[in-house]
Amino acid sequence: MDKKLIYLDNAATTRMRQEVVDAMLPYMTELYGNASAVYSFSDTAKKALNDSRAVMADILGCEKREIYFTGCGSESDNWALKATAEAYAAKGNHIITTKIEHHAILHTCEWLEKHGVEVTYLNVDKDGLIDLKELEEAIRPTTILISVMFANNEIGTIEPIREIGEIAKKHGVLFHTDAVQAFGKVPISVDDMHIDMLSASAHKLHGPKGVGLLYIRQGVKIRSFIHGGAQERKRRAGTENIPGIVGFAKAAELAAATMQESAERETKLRDYLMERVLTEIPHCWVNGHRTLRLPGNVSFGFQFIEGESLLIKLDKAGICGSSGSACTSGSLDPSHVLLAIGLPHELAHGSLRLTLGDDTQKEDLDYVVENLKEIVAKLREMSPLYEDYLRKLKK
Ligand code: PLP
Repeated sequence: MDKKLIYLDNAATTRMRQEVVDAMLPYMTELYGNASAVYSFSDTAKKALNDSRAVMADILGCEKREIYFTGCGSESDNWALKATAEAYAAKGNHIITTKIEHHAILHTCEWLEKHGVEVTYLNVDKDGLIDLKELEEAIRPTTILISVMFANNEIGTIEPIREIGEIAKKHGVLFHTDAVQAFGKVPISVDDMHIDMLSASAHKLHGPKGVGLLYIRQGVKIRSFIHGGAQERKRRAGTENIPGIVGFAKAAELAAATMQESAERETKLRDYLMERVLTEIPHCWVNGHRTLRLPGNVSFGFQFIEGESLLIKLDKAGICGSSGSACTSGSLDPSHVLLAIGLPHELAHGSLRLTLGDDTQKEDLDYVVENLKEIVAKLREMSPLYEDYLRKLKK
């Protein structure tokens, strides 16, 4: 019998949809031409690239020439920050970001700091939201860029993007948003939200791994990050990954077409899971904003428990979850996001992120709750901290 698999780690990556695989396959087999070639055999590849760019432009409300395909969300983030710092060095050397960004932003900022860039890391409140007043006060005459993520990958909180864009515009500062978790899940309009640059990645929305995009508003000066050939309007060298790009566009198109119904479905399931866990398991809470959050994101905290032990036991029951972002799991440091929302170290260790997707069913969540109740109770039985707590209660 097949081992049961309840996949609830869709923020880490997703299963490709069959339609996406079907759209990609011909470009890996008979239509393998290089989109930059002159002969007519490559025309289909060229057309596929052009059509894919049009799909993305349509979703973001921008022009085709403002979409640049990259190798992943991390590349898009690196490009936006490093190239802006270089291109706008004459104007200033100050970047504003937040304490809860993905490491693709935070580690890039640390690298930039070693190269003379000053970075302000904004605080967030207990729900993970930045303070717009603190943002505005952080702007200096030398500020060249504000980079605030659209939605957080660990706790799901959605930032006030339009308001941030308005502040950036008012002060003549560029605004980049890492929308890797939000793209295809919530409506985004780069014009309405005054976004100058935006990162997205295909594998978070049932597309293939190894392909991303950076939206760059016309007029933003940033130059090449990957040097070489003249692809992507001479701004991103490298033979275009046509199967990947076609798959990304297909996944984005499907996500956009079903966005509202998927969001409603996942929000309902998410709230059901939260409600059951909060009422049926003692000493637990939800991390992140209760309503301003990604439809499919649930982040729990369990007192007296190690997140890693919980994950191992859930895995034995066939349940895939995460105790923080996929990139930091395996490290014993508590999540920087949970520390930033004010959790003390010992509580930040007891987190569990479950992220729902297209395939998630209510029965899956019932199975998760039943297992969670049992596992949490067992782990607490072994916890000296819990024993201590019970002893104090009795006094
Ligand atoms: N930014 C955020 C918010 C993410 O969640 C991730 C992936 O987890 C990335 C960036 C990196 O994207 P990629 O895996 O495509 O490099």
